[in-house]
Amino acid sequence: MTEQKYTLHWKKKDFSIKIFCSIPNIATGILLKAGKAHFVIDPGDGILRDLNKEIGVKNLLEISDVFVTHGHHDHVGGVWSLLTYLRVMQKKSPLTIHYPDGCVEIESIYNAFKKVYLRSITYKINLKAIKKTNGYTTNNITVKPFPVIHKEYLSTGKMRQVPALGFNFVYDGTKICYGGDTAYCTELVNHASNADLAILEAGHDEETPDEMHMTMKEAVSIGKSAKKYFLVHVPE
Ligand SMILES: [Zn+2]
Ligand SMILES: [Zn+2]
Repeated sequence: MTEQKYTLHWKKKDFSIKIFCSIPNIATGILLKAGKAHFVIDPGDGILRDLNKEIGVKNLLEISDVFVTHGHHDHVGGVWSLLTYLRVMQKKSPLTIHYPDGCVEIESIYNAFKKVYLRSITYKINLKAIKKTNGYTTNNITVKPFPVIHKEYLSTGKMRQVPALGFNFVYDGTKICYGGDTAYCTELVNHASNADLAILEAGHDEETPDEMHMTMKEAVSIGKSAKKYFLVHVPE
């Protein structure tokens, strides 16, 4: 299996996932559906356009939860426009943003949004900074976050670990594992194992593993432990 052509779609009964896009340094955008509920994962640039086309305004206004694996721009670039659109269209139901504790990008976007639109926000935004990786239920799905290894370069040329999570989503006995951006790590190996679907990044362009992304080989080796897998975030 090599890189994928977007949109990627997977479905089991009324649990489904659509990956509109997953290109490193450009954008990610994922829609998860469980029964009648819609969830958004890693809203990168273009998410509003893709959601509008896919589910329309009515369903967009009912989105209850957004899950963010980490703060890199290719995973959060669409958050501002999503929040603003929901305000303009007068969303009434609350929105919860789940993100790794310490992800300053999400908190900065949220704070700026609140500051700019202080007097015209029509819905409640709950920030859920994930500190512990205990499982919990939100709306009608069970979420199990897990830590992954993902680094970035500082201006000094040194690297630092960024707050980064993968998520397992369970609905009606079916499990989807999304690793986000990660190097090969045992947490991901354990959580992807036996999943009905594993979504695995293969963002490293050579067969030389580092602490940012997985090589194709590494991703495939994990993918084979799941019932089905998609390889995503492959450089174009
Ligand atoms: Zn990325
Ligand atoms: Zn990243």
